[in-house]
Amino acid sequence: MKWITPGAEDYDDSRALFNAMIDSRPAVIAACSDATDVAEALAWASAHGHAVAVRSGGHSVAGMSTIDDGLVIDVRPMKGALVDREARTVTVGAGLTWGEFDRATQQHGLATTGGRVSTTGVSGLTLGGGSGWLERSYGLACDNLLAVDLVTAGGERVHASAEENPDLFWALHGGGGNFGVVTSLTFALHELGPLVLAGLMLWPESEGRAVTLAYRDFAVDAPDALGSALICLTAPPEEFVPEHLQGQPVVSVGLVYAGPVEEGIEAVRPLRELQPAVDLVDAMGYADFQCMIDDPPGLYNYWTADYHDAFPDAAVDAFLASGHSRRSENSQQLLVPWGGAIARGADGATPLANRGARWVSHPFAMWEGPEGTEENIAWAREFRRNIAPHTNGGVYLNFIGNEGQERIRAAFGEENYTRLARIKAEFDPGNVFQGNQNILPAP
Ligand SMILES: Cc1cc2nc3c(=O)[nH]c(=O)nc-3n(C[C@H](O)[C@H](O)[C@H](O)COP(=O)(O)OP(=O)(O)OC[C@H]3O[C@@H](n4cnc5c(N)ncnc54)[C@H](O)[C@@H]3O)c2cc1C
Repeated sequence: MKWITPGAEDYDDSRALFNAMIDSRPAVIAACSDATDVAEALAWASAHGHAVAVRSGGHSVAGMSTIDDGLVIDVRPMKGALVDREARTVTVGAGLTWGEFDRATQQHGLATTGGRVSTTGVSGLTLGGGSGWLERSYGLACDNLLAVDLVTAGGERVHASAEENPDLFWALHGGGGNFGVVTSLTFALHELGPLVLAGLMLWPESEGRAVTLAYRDFAVDAPDALGSALICLTAPPEEFVPEHLQGQPVVSVGLVYAGPVEEGIEAVRPLRELQPAVDLVDAMGYADFQCMIDDPPGLYNYWTADYHDAFPDAAVDAFLASGHSRRSENSQQLLVPWGGAIARGADGATPLANRGARWVSHPFAMWEGPEGTEENIAWAREFRRNIAPHTNGGVYLNFIGNEGQERIRAAFGEENYTRLARIKAEFDPGNVFQGNQNILPAP
């Protein structure tokens, strides 16, 4: 265990999160290597009256994984990844990033649904559900969980699986970091690649409406193996982008085909018929594609999202009006088709409501410094107001910041929230773990 306090050489690096807007100064950061360290850190916080935050990949845009004047339990030293090729499972330490996870499992031609960038933490992303390119084939990341080890607020080590502590195991499928400090997770893996058909296509803004309408009709009924998202972004000043599009707003489709490359080529034909100005879709290593759209750290961030049961033309217009009026060239706006294996989970099989939603809209504002804060946050909020008539009221919590109890309840639905609150009361009655999308312990 390493205790890192203000003034230490690595204090500033250790407290930094992906969102540069978050500048919290913890009293202590406990870099924990195992469950014993975690229990010791929790006991120390309790004895000294310090509030606690738990940190893994550091990608909480709301900064929930850090805390001013409190104790941060940093699980990043827990980096193991033990693949069982025959059983097609992997047990990973809670500090792994998805890039590290994918490299370890792809050595065996295996993978499971993980985040769309390589730098997010396996722990935080999975505990919140876990949306990624493979989700229409294999469900969300949490749907692939086989077991979780954690340390409770009282310092007790608990194993959760379908057989042991099944209620807690259920709660860990989307209920976030509410129940304890996770030290390891075991996932089911699937044969994939290592070469898959993946990449990006780009169209100029002027073709945005036609492309988005066609994409909407295509993606929602596309084969489950095709994971994709439509993204409004600014074309980068890269060689592969024609000069007249560099620095210009474009509509893009990112995709991965979780099956034979030849089959994938056939599946994406309708998108190619839309004649993209840039077509980078090709056979490539799955793990390589996973880091192809990594967002740069060091920017200010504000993220939000909504679920949709349908995305009519008026929703497309509202989506593009916002996508084309982003206030920063770093900002992006995603439209992600849900469905496939996400929708196949029985209602109540996990805490996450709205499994049957067809779409998620997800604007994320990213800008360079404090001067842009007001207008960039206003942009994302305005989108939510304008798209409101087309939402179903639900939300996927991993894609939003701190938007209050009402949104948390909307993400789970009343019945699941009530069950989560009972489990929270059993494992964390004092709400020690409140640096999360917080479930209030049932009285
Ligand atoms: C650039 C970027 C890309 C993203 N892409 C995706 C995506 O493709 N799909 C998706 O679903 N989400 C995505 N997200 C959202 C992301 O999944 C959440 O922000 C998630 O919480 C990040 O996990 P982390 O471990 O990196 O973050 P951290 O900031 O370290 O942790 C976030 C929260 O997770 C909990 N937590 C983390 N580790 C533990 C642990 N060991 N035990 C208990 N609780 C813990 C804590 O409550 C903590 O506050 C993205 C976010 C960013 C910034």
